[in-house]
Amino acid sequence: SAKLSGKGRFEVFNETMDKKTTARLDLELDLRRAVKSGEMSVHYQPVVRLNTGELSGLEALARWEHPVRGTVSPAEFIPLAEETGLIHQIGAHVLESACARLVDWQTRYPGCGDLRMSVNLSVRQLQNPDLVEEVQAILSRTGVDPKDVVLEITESMVMQEAEGTGPGLGTLGRLKDLGLSLAVDDFGTGYSSLSQLRRFPVDVLKIDRSFVDGLGRAPEDRAIVETVVKLADALDLEVVAEGIETPEQLGRLKQLGCALGQGYLFSRPLPAGETERLLAADRSPGPDYLKRSRSGG
Ligand code: C2E
Ligand code: MG
Ligand code: MG
Ligand code: MG
Repeated sequence: SAKLSGKGRFEVFNETMDKKTTARLDLELDLRRAVKSGEMSVHYQPVVRLNTGELSGLEALARWEHPVRGTVSPAEFIPLAEETGLIHQIGAHVLESACARLVDWQTRYPGCGDLRMSVNLSVRQLQNPDLVEEVQAILSRTGVDPKDVVLEITESMVMQEAEGTGPGLGTLGRLKDLGLSLAVDDFGTGYSSLSQLRRFPVDVLKIDRSFVDGLGRAPEDRAIVETVVKLADALDLEVVAEGIETPEQLGRLKQLGCALGQGYLFSRPLPAGETERLLAADRSPGPDYLKRSRSGG
């Protein structure tokens, strides 16, 4: 009977694996179609000046509006897009959409002239030898001011580049030469050294959400955030805190001298239409929380 149940478990396991493989294959076929049929959209999350609550920029985040599954998270489809190479098309689509939107919004809404747009770049995109030319083409097609564009790369990508072992082989430097800025995303998770950061032409450090999450609970997280803010100051870099969800976290970040941040406390990533309404109304997201605190309530 022990053998029987053992065999039973094995078959169940196999069936699960088959279902997984089939589901993944379905998703891959769907993704190929999605890229062509306009199911890829871009949402925008406000980045705010923590002292005033004023909007300083937007981060473009890819969204897949699947006809049956609904919205598929980038955590699910970006890794698949990287494996299948579809990331090149998706990345170009997100960059072009975001740049075109920015130009449109800057033109139509006075006061948005200095608004910046951040776009995430995958390590696979850096391996594309035509990346710099493609980015340049997008900049000139959309007419965006390159100094309003920030490309976000993960800390591990920066390290590989700084060591000269990265797939991009100088690509990041050539991107900077186009006049845009570079941000290190998820900073604090990748153990980069001071000298690597100094040698590398980055402009912005984004403190990973996991450290912001622990602010007020874990003394180590406070120490890490404090250190990153000081480091950014010393290297003359901007610093953005990710994933601010509570007024307590906001208060502590302000105490520690962090200038910029984003998170659900201010706003979730918004579809273009809602982003536009925010820009048209006033430049401060998070109407509930921030307006209450501004009017002293
Ligand atoms: P990321 O670049 O670090 O983006 C921040 C993520 O944190 C976003 O998740 C955002 O929705 C989420 N977030 C923002 N504020 C909060 C908060 O207060 N609390 C919590 N819990 N989460 C918050 P999203 O949109 O699901 O994207 C996940 C990751 O997928 C991104 O992390 C980025 O690495 C990747 N990604 C998204 N769009 C693109 C893209 O167009 N290209 C590439 N290569 N990667 C992308
Ligand atoms: Mg400008
Ligand atoms: Mg990012
Ligand atoms: Mg991040």
